[in-house]
Amino acid sequence: MKTIASITLPAAVQRPQYDRTKLRSRIVHFGFGAFHRAHQALLTNRVLNARGGDWGICEISLFSGDALMTQLRAQDHLYTVLEKGADGNQPIIVGAVSECLNAKLDSLAAIIEKFCEPQVAIVSLTITEKGYCIDPASGKLDLHQPRIEHDLQYPDEPHSAPGILVEALYRRRLRGLGPFTVLSCDNIPDNGHVVKNAVLGMAQARSPELAQWIAEHVSFPATMVDRIVPAATEESLAEISAILGVEDPCAIGCEPFIQWVIEDNFVAGRPEWEAAGAQLVQDVRPWEQMKLRMLNGTHSFLAYLGYLAGFAHINECMQDSAFRSAARRLMLEEQAPTLQISGVDLTAYADSLIARFANPALQHRTWQIAMDGSQKLPQRMLDGIRVHLQREHHWPLLALGVAGWMRYVSGVDDAGKAIDVRDPLVDKIRAIVDTSSEAERVTALLTLQEIFGTDLPQNPVFVDAITDAWRNIAAHGAHGAVKFLLNT
Ligand code: NAD
Repeated sequence: MKTIASITLPAAVQRPQYDRTKLRSRIVHFGFGAFHRAHQALLTNRVLNARGGDWGICEISLFSGDALMTQLRAQDHLYTVLEKGADGNQPIIVGAVSECLNAKLDSLAAIIEKFCEPQVAIVSLTITEKGYCIDPASGKLDLHQPRIEHDLQYPDEPHSAPGILVEALYRRRLRGLGPFTVLSCDNIPDNGHVVKNAVLGMAQARSPELAQWIAEHVSFPATMVDRIVPAATEESLAEISAILGVEDPCAIGCEPFIQWVIEDNFVAGRPEWEAAGAQLVQDVRPWEQMKLRMLNGTHSFLAYLGYLAGFAHINECMQDSAFRSAARRLMLEEQAPTLQISGVDLTAYADSLIARFANPALQHRTWQIAMDGSQKLPQRMLDGIRVHLQREHHWPLLALGVAGWMRYVSGVDDAGKAIDVRDPLVDKIRAIVDTSSEAERVTALLTLQEIFGTDLPQNPVFVDAITDAWRNIAAHGAHGAVKFLLNT
């Protein structure tokens, strides 16, 4: 079988510039998904290109990915990233992966032992929010999740990510080996804290002494990750094979922009990621807040209002002059003033976001971004609104965004078509929608404390602003409401 490892690739394809035989699995990564391939692994590949070294990655997939990993092995652990810009594409062969293990192809015992090898310095994760098994209400490990219950009963045969991490650390301590750094790269607010809570919660339930050792020796740096990496599709894979001249089922396409801000707190060393453009900082929180409010907050605004107005993709919203100026105004006039970051040119950042959103090569669906709004609204819009309320400033575009979410979850777009609303709170939301009239809808949805807390529904300025925005959309449609607001 021909693979990217066995054929001569076209000259435009960037190939690893370093000696791959030197790689050792010093990073073990959980979750060989789309994002990791185009982000952390790609940046590690860049460091190896720039500096050489032995920082290889062992990829671990627990629940799926056996076909992907069989293929990865067949192509010498090489795969392709296609960076797709408005001005052209750049194919890159990533060589940073040294090996891979999968629960179906290999044994669970082999996976756990991999974490216990002495050279392992970092365990990184992109396992999505649910992989951490955290109870959203308490922010602590959910001891009642079936996988966690299983791991507490059979600690040496764990099935969950927290269970595997704790068992590996337990064995390392027993064998007199040093700890590793646990590096979450999931897009979750305060991800370092989240993974720390998961690991310490599991360790504490096993043995307070083990928990204390972990708390003293293991670090959990927070990260802010940014790059748009849509899931691979038949079309995106076909596009990449046409460029390579051979199929690569492990390939992934993404935008050219990439950002990684990392808290510089590693207990056993790290690659020189700054040589690849990563920012190593003391405190990631201001960066995370900037991204959540300016990028993600505006994405959500465009997703709800854009979807209602009939736009299937974000780049189509950006071709519309009203949506485009509303997005830029939202970023600079309503989100930027609420941030705590200093030393960043926020106008340049906003302009780079507008250019990224407009990239026609990335077909990012408004429906996809609109999903799970109950989990996203607080950090993307409501926290910033609280700042404006305190300062008695106006925030009309944020109000339109929140009202846009309310109309979106009400289930019908501006053309009268039903919306497939996906959200962990969908049953609760549907019950509210079904039992409230249009006139009551805003106050009815504001009873969702998980989203709005208890402060916002009791604040008349907040309730009035959302009600006005709701009426604006009801009267003019989402597109008309955006235009109306820009002209007032
Ligand atoms: P993906 O579906 O391609 O990959 C998810 C990976 O997580 C898979 O390897 C899967 O096996 C693993 N996984 C799922 N549930 C798990 C569990 N319970 N325990 C262990 N592993 C589990 O998704 P993706 O696009 O790679 O996204 C992964 C993470 O990266 C998400 O948290 C996302 O927020 C973040 N992220 C993605 C993007 C993007 O544009 N794709 C951008 C920024 C951040």
